[in-house]
Amino acid sequence: MKILIVGSGGREHAIAASVAKSPKAEKIYCAPGNAGIAEYAECVAIGAMEFEKLAAFAKEKEIDLCIVGMDDPLVGGLVDTLEEAGIRTFGPKKNAAILEGSKAFSKDLMKKYHIPTAAYENFTDPDAAIAYLENAKFPIVLKADGLALGKGVLICQDLEEAKAGVKEIMLDKKFGSAGNEMVIEEFMTGREVSVLSFVDGKTIKTMTSAQDHKRAGDGDTGLNTGGMGTFSPSPFYTKEVEDFCNKYIYQATVDAMAAEGRPFKGIIFFGLMLTEDGPKVLEYNARFGDPEAQVVLPRMKNDLIEVAEACIDGTLDQIDLQFEDNAAVCVVLASDGYPVKYEKGFPIEGLDEFKKHDGYYCFHAGTKFNEDGKIVTNGGRVLGVTAKGKDLKEARANAYAATEWVKFENKYMRHDIGKAIDEA
Ligand code: ATP
Repeated sequence: MKILIVGSGGREHAIAASVAKSPKAEKIYCAPGNAGIAEYAECVAIGAMEFEKLAAFAKEKEIDLCIVGMDDPLVGGLVDTLEEAGIRTFGPKKNAAILEGSKAFSKDLMKKYHIPTAAYENFTDPDAAIAYLENAKFPIVLKADGLALGKGVLICQDLEEAKAGVKEIMLDKKFGSAGNEMVIEEFMTGREVSVLSFVDGKTIKTMTSAQDHKRAGDGDTGLNTGGMGTFSPSPFYTKEVEDFCNKYIYQATVDAMAAEGRPFKGIIFFGLMLTEDGPKVLEYNARFGDPEAQVVLPRMKNDLIEVAEACIDGTLDQIDLQFEDNAAVCVVLASDGYPVKYEKGFPIEGLDEFKKHDGYYCFHAGTKFNEDGKIVTNGGRVLGVTAKGKDLKEARANAYAATEWVKFENKYMRHDIGKAIDEA
């Protein structure tokens, strides 16, 4: 089969590595890809938002399966464009990707179908939002409705901060049209767990759990980032938690989308908070998490192409999804200064080391080839160093040991990825 992957980050590298293991994959393309993905795929210079170009390319190359990794093209309707062009595509259509694309939509869906989540109100009028805040309990959470690169969420300690937040989101339009509508939500406390799942419109199969580290600095300090590291499985995702989510959250979400005439096919990412009152949904994403994919996919035993095709064909019930009985930890190597200001273009050494060791992976997020054909840094998040181990402690030790193999100027990482493991 000829496969086209759309995206350019560590997530797409993990997808490409997984697809490449399949005996079904004859040729892999990635648009636009990066220097690491180039090991498995021919990278083509088409951007993820260039829908017509992607459809034309897919037709010309007679692509058998397209996998869309990123949120923006999914929410914008790339799957619809590709399917109209006759390309079999793994990912939700626009009317289903709204589950991630509009937080107001997803909150209303959860309310209507009694799926546990934080109490909330939606607002399109900033004055009404401020009037509501004047009688609210603090801290409180403000969320821009649309996609905002994970930065559209503000946790406000008092009324003054919240008023400034409403101004930022709705009037100054810091996140553009994503702030035309806003969700104001009750502040919850608890541990966060990410659960990814495959969905075929009616059946859902959840993957092993993971936990992200969003803040830039050790001890969860500093600014929010795209993610500085992950571990899988989460020791806090107990059988009891899983049973609760099976009963009240996972299938309920898939059924709700179908009942709304928006059948969801692809990946649903459940961002959960384990509160004192039980697990609640923090957010939905309509694709693999990044870096969650980098610890979940290497542990998956199934052929990703087979599972993706089952999602498209509505035969997921026939798939026995299996994960290795081990653990994985991913430590992100970033450019110093990320997520604010950082330099690019530094040569990266030591990448070959990963080929010599089983169970170790170096997923590229922001890299490219320079004019001399050398791999150089090309982004804030540069690489995701993942290692497996028999348990989380071993995986963490292995991952941190492997971070030492890689050298580039201004290399930055958190040193406490997986610290929560010790508290389990
Ligand atoms: P991303 O897509 O990067 O995961 P996002 O912009 O979609 O992020 P959310 O996941 O909804 O935003 O929120 C980001 C983070 O803010 C959460 O991981 C959580 O730490 C915190 N957060 C969100 N909602 C709440 C809440 N109601 N109570 C407490 N913390 C919250």
